Amino acid sequence: MEFESKILKAVDYREESVLSDRIVTLETPKEFEFKAGQFVMIGHDAVKNKNNPTQLKWGSMSIASSPQKKGFLELVLSIGSPDGITYFVGNKRQVGDTIKVRGPFGVFGVRENFDEAVFIATGTGIAPLMAMISGLLESGEKRKLKLFFGFKNNAKFLYEKELFEFAKKNPNFSFEIICSREPAKLNQKQGYVQDLLRQQKWDPKQNIHFYICGTPAAVTDIVNLLKETGFPSDHIHFEQW
Ligand SMILES: Cc1cc2nc3c(=O)[nH]c(=O)nc-3n(C[C@H](O)[C@H](O)[C@H](O)COP(=O)(O)OP(=O)(O)OC[C@H]3O[C@@H](n4cnc5c(N)ncnc54)[C@H](O)[C@@H]3O)c2cc1C
Repeated sequence: MEFESKILKAVDYREESVLSDRIVTLETPKEFEFKAGQFVMIGHDAVKNKNNPTQLKWGSMSIASSPQKKGFLELVLSIGSPDGITYFVGNKRQVGDTIKVRGPFGVFGVRENFDEAVFIATGTGIAPLMAMISGLLESGEKRKLKLFFGFKNNAKFLYEKELFEFAKKNPNFSFEIICSREPAKLNQKQGYVQDLLRQQKWDPKQNIHFYICGTPAAVTDIVNLLKETGFPSDHIHFEQW
């Protein structure tokens, strides 16, 4: 479906005072439904496709909120070029303004048959994984869920408060973080999320399913690492952008 959606909330993350990421909460019609892991496309009449100005420049954005929460959805925008839709929504739209939303689309999502689910994100790749984790926890999931989250610096710890709350309320959920450009304040770890994965003592015979999202280079590296550890391809689910 396609609808005009009001911005209900915006939380900004800045790097040296320049907006780098914005988490936006968008109003949705009552009948709007999606599965955790799916994405929507966002657009606005003011942002045309430069290659075909009769059309809008749409941008695909994973839904980060839980599918059980009705009436709104949440997106994590990594702010791109000044011509693009993420820049426009980040810098030119405020709470109360509207944008166009199309969707939901996509088949990235949690499989039912697992003993443990491991989520691996880099940067804004946390978005679809947040929908999966919060969706599972809200529906009473008791199997083990673990998140490994890598990001640039401490200012870019997206969903910090929410992740601590999940861990406090749910003994089956835990997370580990690492920063690439400086030691993480939480645990002093510096490097890539792959460095955290290499320290794990996983047995590939365990029924673990992996859900990975982030930049193509990181996702490819992580998938290869898991395959080298012996995990079968059909246990490794990923999306990259
Ligand atoms: C399934 C999926 C899920 C995704 N989820 C997310 C997410 O949750 N968060 C997130 O931040 N990103 C996500 N992405 C990536 C995002 O869709 C792209 O980065 C998208 O291009 C951002 O749109 P933008 O208009 O801001 O482009 P920009 O980031 O500004 O630019 C990206 C490319 O588009 C070109 N471009 C920019 N403006 C125009 C224009 N007006 N006309 C023609 N070309 C233009 C640029 O030259 C550049 O090549 C996802 C991608 C996919 C496929």
